[in-house]
Amino acid sequence: MQIEINQTAILLIQGDITRQSTNAIVNAANSSLMGGGGVDGAIHQAGGPDILKECELIVKHRGKLPAGKAVATNAGNLNAKYVIHTVGPVWINGGEGEPDLLASAYRESLILAERLEIKSISFPSISTGAYRYPLDQAAKIAINTVAEFAREEAQSLKEIVFVLFNEKAYEAYKNALSNVRV
Ligand code: ADP
Repeated sequence: MQIEINQTAILLIQGDITRQSTNAIVNAANSSLMGGGGVDGAIHQAGGPDILKECELIVKHRGKLPAGKAVATNAGNLNAKYVIHTVGPVWINGGEGEPDLLASAYRESLILAERLEIKSISFPSISTGAYRYPLDQAAKIAINTVAEFAREEAQSLKEIVFVLFNEKAYEAYKNALSNVRV
C-alpha cells in the first residue's frame, strides 16, 4: 500500500528491513546502542561489526541515547548508506509519556535524514516488540507522525517506507494509513 503527500511517498511493505535498499534504515535500538534482540540484532548481524564500532564511539562521547532521540552511523555491509538508531519508549501503561516519546523517535529520525540530505528511509515498527507498545496505537502514532512530517517539513525525503515483519503488523499500519488525509 502507498500514498503520496506533498511529493513524498509513504509505503508499507511486509518484509525484513535488513534487505532494504533505501538510503537509510532505522534501527529500533536500546539506549546502550550495544545491540540486542529483534530488529536491532538482525541489523547488527547483517551489517557486520563496523556499525557497532561507531555506536561505541558515540556512547563514549555523548553517553547513552535517551528514548525519543536518534543518531546516525555507517551501515556496514547493508545496502543502505546509513543506519539511524533511535530508541522508542518501553510501554508501561500509556500514561508515562509513551505516545510523545514514540512520536519523537520517528520525528528525530526524519530530521536526521533531512540533515543527511537523503531521499529514502525505511522504518521498522518501533517499540512494538520487546518494548510491548500496543500495535494499533503504535501504528497510528507512527503513520500520523510521518504523514505530518511529509506534509509540513520533508524536502530531500521522497520515499518513507515502513517495513513490517509480519501480517499482523502490516494490517495495523494499513489501517492507520488508510485513515490519513492526503
Ligand atoms: P522494540 O524493542 O523497539 O520493541 P523489537 O526489535 O523487539 O524492538 O521489535 C520491533 C518490531 O520489529 C517488531 O514488530 C518486530 O516484529 C520487528 N522486527 C524484528 N525483526 C525485524 C526485521 N528484520 N525487519 C523488520 N522488522 C523486524
